[in-house]
Amino acid sequence: MSIPRIVVVGGGAGGLELVTRLGRRLGRRGRAEIVLVDRHATHIWKPLLHEVATGVLDSGLDEISYQGHARANGYRFQRGTLEGLDREARTLTLAPILDDDGQEVLPSRTLPYDELVMSVGSVSNDFGTPGVSEHCHFLDSPGQAEAFRKDMLNVFLRYNAPQQDTQTRMVVGIVGAGATGVELAAELYDASQMLHSYGFTPWRANTSKST
Ligand SMILES: Cc1cc2nc3c(=O)[nH]c(=O)nc-3n(C[C@H](O)[C@H](O)[C@H](O)COP(=O)(O)OP(=O)(O)OC[C@H]3O[C@@H](n4cnc5c(N)ncnc54)[C@H](O)[C@@H]3O)c2cc1C
Repeated sequence: MSIPRIVVVGGGAGGLELVTRLGRRLGRRGRAEIVLVDRHATHIWKPLLHEVATGVLDSGLDEISYQGHARANGYRFQRGTLEGLDREARTLTLAPILDDDGQEVLPSRTLPYDELVMSVGSVSNDFGTPGVSEHCHFLDSPGQAEAFRKDMLNVFLRYNAPQQDTQTRMVVGIVGAGATGVELAAELYDASQMLHSYGFTPWRANTSKST
């Protein structure tokens, strides 16, 4: 007798919890096949992204490997980005996986399902404000947090150049004073002190300002 296949797309806070419970309750007992699909190989708890952005947290130390977690909890993991859905045929299409050089690692794939759960989360809304998407950093994914961290270190490098006026003050603007914005401001303050202790003199704690 065939068992139903339950596919969950998105291994974030909601999806990961769901496949873990389904896997333990149904997958391990062979009552259903549970499949998690995510575009990333690992999960990191999003509320930690501001720590990744400032370099306080090495995401490699805190992230969970979906493959290993799946094995331990009775579900299967299929890496890929959802790019198509055929509700009549009950199939998903996953985009090809490319390596850093753009070479194809895995081609486009079709994945059948009996029950489908979409838990792909959300991203920040820029409300169409001109210039925001081109010029601002966002903190919705580990990749974006990492990009911010690299940019921040590059700015420190520039400010440390011999020709740089040591009195110049760098201003970081943070839009959104919720938990993430406030915690990011505090982490940036700490990061500026730490980098100062490493010899990056211009951005001293008393001359840095996050607004
Ligand atoms: C910086 C930050 C700080 C936060 N701090 C807090 C906090 O302190 N407290 C709190 O309660 N909440 C906080 N939140 C909100 C909380 O993280 C979200 O509410 C929660 O993560 C939503 O869970 P989710 O499962 O719906 O989506 P997410 O956790 O966003 O997961 C979505 C998943 O779907 C995957 N995905 C997306 N599109 C595709 C696709 N096409 N194909 C395959 N996979 C896809 C993504 O890779 C991701 O793994 C914070 C959010 C952010 C960004």
